[in-house]
Amino acid sequence: MANRIVVIPDDGIPESDKAELRARFGTDACRWCGGLHQRECPRVKKIIFNPSDERQVREVEFWAEWDRSTVLWPEDVL
Ligand SMILES: [Zn+2]
Repeated sequence: MANRIVVIPDDGIPESDKAELRARFGTDACRWCGGLHQRECPRVKKIIFNPSDERQVREVEFWAEWDRSTVLWPEDVL
């Protein structure tokens, strides 16, 4: 899973960056929340990987309530 840094400025995303970010949703969007974020997914509480293949996810536990403000959504870059 690609995990490049996404910087979200306080005063909004410059128009010049929006096209690039829109393209990133096609390739880098988080598989768990569908957004782009800077660190590990804020929606995920726990991930258990397959011991014999650490790229393979065996179980994912999500938070019932989670902070969506640190995630960039497709509508933020329209
Ligand atoms: Zn996520």
